[in-house]
Amino acid sequence: MLHAGMTVARINFSHGEHATHAETVQMLREVARTEGKVLALLADLQGPKLRLGHVKAGGMQLALGDEIVLTPHPGQPAMIQLPHPDLIAAVSPGSRLVIGDGEVEFAVAEKQGDTLRCIVTVPGLLGSRKGVSAPGADLAISSITPKDRTDLGMVCELDFDYVALSFVRTAEDVIELRRLMKETGCDIPIIAKIEKSEAIAHLEEIRDVADGMMVARGDLGIDMPAQEVPLLQKRIISCCNEVGKPVITATQMLQSMVEHPRPTRAEASDVANAILDGTDAVMLSNETATGSYPVESVLMMKQIAENIEPAFPYDTWRNKRQSIAPNSASTTEAISAAACSVAEQVGARAIVATTTSGYSARQIARHRPPIAIMAVSPSAKTQRRLALVWGVDCLLVPTFLHTDEMLQVTMQALEPFNLHANDTVVITAGVPFGLSGKTNMIQVQSIDAEKGLSLADDI
Ligand code: PEP
Repeated sequence: MLHAGMTVARINFSHGEHATHAETVQMLREVARTEGKVLALLADLQGPKLRLGHVKAGGMQLALGDEIVLTPHPGQPAMIQLPHPDLIAAVSPGSRLVIGDGEVEFAVAEKQGDTLRCIVTVPGLLGSRKGVSAPGADLAISSITPKDRTDLGMVCELDFDYVALSFVRTAEDVIELRRLMKETGCDIPIIAKIEKSEAIAHLEEIRDVADGMMVARGDLGIDMPAQEVPLLQKRIISCCNEVGKPVITATQMLQSMVEHPRPTRAEASDVANAILDGTDAVMLSNETATGSYPVESVLMMKQIAENIEPAFPYDTWRNKRQSIAPNSASTTEAISAAACSVAEQVGARAIVATTTSGYSARQIARHRPPIAIMAVSPSAKTQRRLALVWGVDCLLVPTFLHTDEMLQVTMQALEPFNLHANDTVVITAGVPFGLSGKTNMIQVQSIDAEKGLSLADDI
């Protein structure tokens, strides 16, 4: 999968045990190291995802109109366990219970104490531990569950590159996760998963306190009507693009590849359209977690991305960049926007962002310049984190203190571009070097056949 194009691996804490997660992380790091690839690791906290208990091996085939009984208690013959009394308390006759991504659905017919009698309204195969949602039910459950708190300890210990928080409702949920991390002395960028209608109502506040977002279309399409998901996807992506925070589009992207070696044409279009919308990353779930064609799925996604990127609406994004309002940008933001304009105007082969935290590279990528973006950073963490950001390759370099050293590492970064004499590159940097968030310089450099990089000089 790494060779096919995987740049971030998500470990879903909804499944598995701590010991297996630790083994998976170790294996992923080892493989990335031996294959010489950059791979970021994203831990996905389960959040208040409610799940059914165990169903008989192979699942239960349910027909329309079948009756089933749900109970919070384990081991009741002829009943299915739903180990969430809060959910049972929150529903009433007429409520919908949606299983998985909507493969099966029940209508609550009767509630007797803590037992629900339900009628199957969408027939299908009911599997063990499938997610259960009750659209519209008001569940007073915190976004960070006791299990998430325990898992967070593991996430910090294993030093993940990103942590995703599920079922975020307000900015407070993200602030609380950051506070919990601070208590354990860890500081991992937070991806807010947008999958609740409450989150849609607080999108900008959540974006401002998070480090990125995920369009978690599986649960979003349950909490809200599926027909609203396409526009919501565009809104969430654009909300992150506005400030240069990475956004992931997730779920059912190449769903049919769980069982087939080729996607449907509609799926191929879905991946391409997410990229045209401005997503930074496209994500696979079942396709690579349980599917029969994990490598083919990754390769297909990469090929779709490579095919659509030349058709990206670069002109529209250029116009947006050129209309940034006066007094509305920080120095780094202004330098990053200017670097894109300068690079286009001088016909540069690449924009090189020397960066400690990755912020300036993200700000450059935010404008989607039609020119390669190369980050150079002395931080391996920054290198991995930038794997989630649109169009940025990052080279790990030794710390540099002087301009000459910076030019040396920049030359190294440019090796893959096979530059020729008189080719030009645009470099952004913060002087003094090594401070985060201090990008204040643009340099235009030409390749001198004898000396390598030298300041561009038109006179
Ligand atoms: C989703 O709901 O789309 C999602 C990505 O979350 P999960 O895989 O945890 O269900």
